[in-house]
Amino acid sequence: MTEKTSAWYEFYRRMKNAWPWPGPPRLEMIDGMLNIDGLMHLALKHPGLGKLVGEPGDSQPYAECKCFPDGSNFILISGGLLDFVEAVIAVTVAGAKLQLTKGAVIDPINTPDEVDDVLLVLYTNWQNLKGNETRLVVTKPDWGETAQNHFDTLYLATRAFILLHEYGHAALHPTIQEKDRRPEHELEADAFALDTMLRFKRPGMNYLTLIAGSTLVPRIYKALEIMGHTFKKTHPPPQTRIAALFDRVRSVAATEFDYYGLTGQSRVIDLRLSAAERKFVGADNNSDRFSGEDIIFSVTSGAHSIAGEPPTNTFEGVREIVMSYLVASNVAARQDVAALWKRVKSSVYRKTEIDNLSLFEKCMDIAHQVIQSLPEDDRMLFGID
Ligand SMILES: [Zn+2]
Repeated sequence: MTEKTSAWYEFYRRMKNAWPWPGPPRLEMIDGMLNIDGLMHLALKHPGLGKLVGEPGDSQPYAECKCFPDGSNFILISGGLLDFVEAVIAVTVAGAKLQLTKGAVIDPINTPDEVDDVLLVLYTNWQNLKGNETRLVVTKPDWGETAQNHFDTLYLATRAFILLHEYGHAALHPTIQEKDRRPEHELEADAFALDTMLRFKRPGMNYLTLIAGSTLVPRIYKALEIMGHTFKKTHPPPQTRIAALFDRVRSVAATEFDYYGLTGQSRVIDLRLSAAERKFVGADNNSDRFSGEDIIFSVTSGAHSIAGEPPTNTFEGVREIVMSYLVASNVAARQDVAALWKRVKSSVYRKTEIDNLSLFEKCMDIAHQVIQSLPEDDRMLFGID
């Protein structure tokens, strides 16, 4: 039985007045995310965490952690936020069928263009979901075991990040009221969530998916902002949060090359969301789609796809992708390429558990060859003449 703290009274008042969430619980997942050491660590180091976690059915997207002077706290994460997260992941993973309780059924899709179009429908309809009586229902297609597993893991990682971010506030800022939090507190809570997942991941959970699930959270806030949703002024811009998470991944990656590999899934998802957002705001500018890091990623992921057993792309195919990234980048992005590539080339291989030296060397070799094969102007962007 839970002790009747200040948090307890407020928590039950809030839950009683909230729109009920009709589905199965979606936040009881920490057990599936973290290994036993991780669960013990959290329980011992922060005994107050996670005692009161609620999922009100409100359609507005929000997540909050409220801390009280008696040391108690509660966490509320709205159904609207989880619905939106689920829809974005389902659409990007393979193209799920989306159904609005009052609205159109959108059939399964699979090509990137079709994914963008369904995301666009989601973005457009989201604005009509502001009343609690209309919910977003996501029906997954019969998409096979691989897609289902990928969906499950990514959705689990995203929910865990949302919850662990709020745990982070309770653990790190127990005496700071929500309204008094500053942008750096949000970045600290993000770091707490990512570090906890990477440090205590269960065997079999893929690092790329954990990182993608984490960065997807601020990325989804960015999407909601583009749709006109306003967030509290205490929060840093979503782009700042994404960049801080990427930096954190960079600091644990075995090499700069691995950093691009570890953030690959995040970048691929971002690509689809960005494409849908460009359509949503009516921007047809194709020339500043990719950052300097995205261009480097096209080379490193391309090299990896050639080096893989079995290879998933050809040398010519990769070369074309790299050139398409360069065409769709602006001057500033292209100016970053030389310094970023230099950083990849000169990064010292550090032995961590995320490693594979011979594959790394093979990939670096192929990446060099791809760059060497580019037209002279493009090659020079990488600082190679
Ligand atoms: Zn926060």
